[in-house]
Amino acid sequence: MIEKRDFYINGQWVAPATANDLPVIDPSTEEPCAVISLGGDTDTDAAVAAAKAAFATWAFSTKEERLALIRRILELYNSRADDLAEAMSLEMGAPIDMARTQQVGAGSYHIDNFIKALESFEFTRPLGPHAPEDRILYEPVGVTALITPWNWPMNQITLKVVAALAAGCTMVLKPSEIAPLSAMIFSEIMHEAGTPAGVYNMVNGDGPGVGTRLSGHPDIDMVSFTGSTRAGIAISKNAAETLKRVHLELGGKGANIIFADADEKAVKRGVLHMMNNTGQSCNAPSRMLVAREIYDQAIEIARETAEKVAVGPASEPGRHIGPVVSQAQYDKIQTLIQKGIDEGARLVTGGLGRPENLNRGYFVRPTVFADVSNDMTIAQEEIFGPVLSMIPFESEEEAVRIANDTLYGLTNYIQTTDPERAKRVARQMRSGMVEMNGKPRAPGAPFGGYKQSGNGREGGAWGIEDFLEVKAVSGWTD
Ligand code: NAD
Repeated sequence: MIEKRDFYINGQWVAPATANDLPVIDPSTEEPCAVISLGGDTDTDAAVAAAKAAFATWAFSTKEERLALIRRILELYNSRADDLAEAMSLEMGAPIDMARTQQVGAGSYHIDNFIKALESFEFTRPLGPHAPEDRILYEPVGVTALITPWNWPMNQITLKVVAALAAGCTMVLKPSEIAPLSAMIFSEIMHEAGTPAGVYNMVNGDGPGVGTRLSGHPDIDMVSFTGSTRAGIAISKNAAETLKRVHLELGGKGANIIFADADEKAVKRGVLHMMNNTGQSCNAPSRMLVAREIYDQAIEIARETAEKVAVGPASEPGRHIGPVVSQAQYDKIQTLIQKGIDEGARLVTGGLGRPENLNRGYFVRPTVFADVSNDMTIAQEEIFGPVLSMIPFESEEEAVRIANDTLYGLTNYIQTTDPERAKRVARQMRSGMVEMNGKPRAPGAPFGGYKQSGNGREGGAWGIEDFLEVKAVSGWTD
């Protein structure tokens, strides 16, 4: 059994003020695989105090100092890739090969993009030719609380920690208590990289405990949060008392609009994208909107594709999908599948219960529903499992209306070989991101949502800007 009870505060590993053990459950076996401790107010306050003290110096570090540190972090991160992959595979169920390529890969990708963005980032800018003695200074927002979920652990941690470092902020990271092991390896990396004491701190804990203490803390200037809309609302309310900045990356219910002239791989690509990471991605294309002319054919392709998606334990090599993260997520997904059936959607493949070859572990059957109407629960609620809802549409206008008829607005997807239509529809999407014809967004593109999907942008230059204040100064002479 892995024992990892300590927190990383002010440059060292320290025992919790009061022991409060929490087992980490391996979702492939339902057995405990590690034990951590949940922090309390004393631990949280110590981490915030360390970050506050370190801010006085780190805020004035040079761009070169920050770049040198982040480059060392990237080097060490890559050297610990196998450890990180094993930790994530164990704690949240990503199949080991996928954990190595996608889960670990997402972190190095973001760190690398931040290095490039920081290299060309101007922290002092002229206001304009009309005002030669005015300068706009971009300055770190201060002491930050970074609260992350379990679904893409290193993706989310690097998006927050490295952006905050690049901006000159200091921080307390509270990783998900469900998937804390990779975050502890990441903290070892931060230590080995020589991060000055207090700049980066990590305390394990849950939402009601450490999470709430951080969001209400008078010495925290900004909370950057990724997770559920429910927790995002709770954090915003609690943070309002101290008027701190709150940056939210929440859920999604992405539409994947497949027009009749879409390329022939569009449906298959959409199903596989949905099933990736066992459906546990906020930007999953979970509603497939299909032109009526090709609807029956698309259902057939979706069925064939989903039935070929293998499900198995995270420790096994190969291209299968793993379990979902927890009993709670398993139960929630089962309830939603039942709701889909009860509300009259047509179950094309998959359904309730585990796949036949598995009798323990939080494994869900890759599931496709057709004849879903957009007001059904499975079209409105984020399922966070390998469950696809197919919805037919008659016209471009109807497709746009259905796609936007959701509380969320994270990523929408468009499949058409007509470039004018693609651009026209992209402009009408009420979402922070639109991906067309299977082309991923390029390195450095901002990630974030409209509406209840959140309010910030992560990654590249936009990600750094989110951790900065803007100061206008007059009378600046060289
Ligand atoms: P969650 O929002 O409960 O937890 C995410 C993080 O927030 C964790 O670190 C948790 O400890 C912390 N937290 C929870 N409540 C808090 C509070 N009141 N104050 C401060 N911190 C708090 O999400 P979850 O339980 O991990 O997953 C539940 C649902 O959230 C999922 O079903 C999914 O719909 C959604 N989700 C979305 C994303 C995303 O990337 N958008 C990621 C994970 C989960």
